[in-house]
Amino acid sequence: MNHDDLLKWSARAADWARDYHAHLREQPVRPDVTPGSIRAALPDIAPESPESMEQIFADFEALVPGAMTHWQHPRFFAYFPANASPASMLAEQLANAIGAQCMLWQTSPAATEIEERMVQWLAAALGLPEGFAGTIHDSATTATLCAVLTMRERALDWQGLTGGLSGQPGLRIYASAQTHSSVDKAARLAGIGQDNLVKIPTRDDLSMDPEALSAAIRADRAAGHLPAGVVFCSGGTSVGAFDDIAACLPVARAEGLYTHVDAAWAGSAMICEEFRPLWAGAGDCDSIVFNPHKWLGVQFDCAVQFLRDPGQQIRTMGLRPEYLETLESTGITDFNEWTVPLGRRFRALKLWFVLRAYGLEGLRDRLRNHVAWVAELAERVAAIPDLEVVTEPRLALFSFAHRDGDAVTEALIRKVNADGRVYLTQTRHAGRFVIRMSAGSFDCTRDDVLMVETVLREVLG
Ligand SMILES: *Cc1c(COP(=O)(O)O)cnc(C)c1O
Repeated sequence: MNHDDLLKWSARAADWARDYHAHLREQPVRPDVTPGSIRAALPDIAPESPESMEQIFADFEALVPGAMTHWQHPRFFAYFPANASPASMLAEQLANAIGAQCMLWQTSPAATEIEERMVQWLAAALGLPEGFAGTIHDSATTATLCAVLTMRERALDWQGLTGGLSGQPGLRIYASAQTHSSVDKAARLAGIGQDNLVKIPTRDDLSMDPEALSAAIRADRAAGHLPAGVVFCSGGTSVGAFDDIAACLPVARAEGLYTHVDAAWAGSAMICEEFRPLWAGAGDCDSIVFNPHKWLGVQFDCAVQFLRDPGQQIRTMGLRPEYLETLESTGITDFNEWTVPLGRRFRALKLWFVLRAYGLEGLRDRLRNHVAWVAELAERVAAIPDLEVVTEPRLALFSFAHRDGDAVTEALIRKVNADGRVYLTQTRHAGRFVIRMSAGSFDCTRDDVLMVETVLREVLG
């Protein structure tokens, strides 16, 4: 396989991709695969001699697509979307052709500078105040880990990096119980300990109670703990909870705590002005993460973190051994100093392509449609006698359950997913097993969303 062969085969791959997407709607969203069957279809050891691309491609077609869950299926309503627009796919193809490792400005000048510009474009597109810089991570989990590490080191006056945590006061960070498990993971990995992530009670609307936050911080100080930061939830994964950041921020500020907003899913919606009240106050926080790879058509992986003062995170994450020094350059950014890994992919290219190919208006239209269609579906689901909507739509997410209890709801989701026309997943809310409905696929239509009602009615008989 050489570069001339690549020309031929990438044309073939492009044909394949067009057919794949053209027929996705006719396929079940999730494959019917017996665990272990794909592994068993592959030889035990790698081949000693080269094999033909004809054979490799044929095996790909025979084994892979039929055994994948189709995330780009227009009726993928599980988890959150990981949507990928054609413009994003094209940009990834070009980034792959260059194959750069974008750790330093000098290893990738265009990648670094396009990344700086894209962060700036997005901050403005989301209505954030001026003054945010930022970077692109692989995932929100990594960005949140960086924010939690920065909270830790800021509270320890950057003594933990070299001296470790033993002998330091016990750190505490705060979040509501609606926050994503990536915050728990960050507390674990940062050496703070999951037990020191204090889950603040929520009010009826599932938002963090500011008085409870204040009380928890004061109690911790009295007990000799060292409060370090607060993670706000803007669009929780379970049922889409939003903290009232504007109400909680004065508490965090008064206590001198670092603040990070997890808007991994809902951040994309903030390109629409009418949704911004949901995260009012986010623009005054120190750090914000959102995943264009969820709902903005920029495929996985692409998690953007905005930082009010990147210096604090760079001081926490940055390390500059001699072999990474850039000689004879000033005024440059080396993004490896902002993030966990040294190596970085050229992720900014797909943002650049997507934002230009669809324009903010084109992206807003899609998001607004998803939200409106989901609201319509929620009303239709509420009208099915056996079912009840448990949490009302927040953006393009709501949850529902069978009135006869958890076991019946669980049987229902199994039947719905076995049907194959739509794919939904579950969560637990207020002690109940509920089914989540979350729309956001780039190619989904109103009919696709309303198909959920059709399938539910058929399955319920
Ligand atoms: C999806 C999600 C995450 C994790 O995102 P990754 O990019 O997969 O790490 C974190 N928080 C929220 C609210 C999410 O929806």
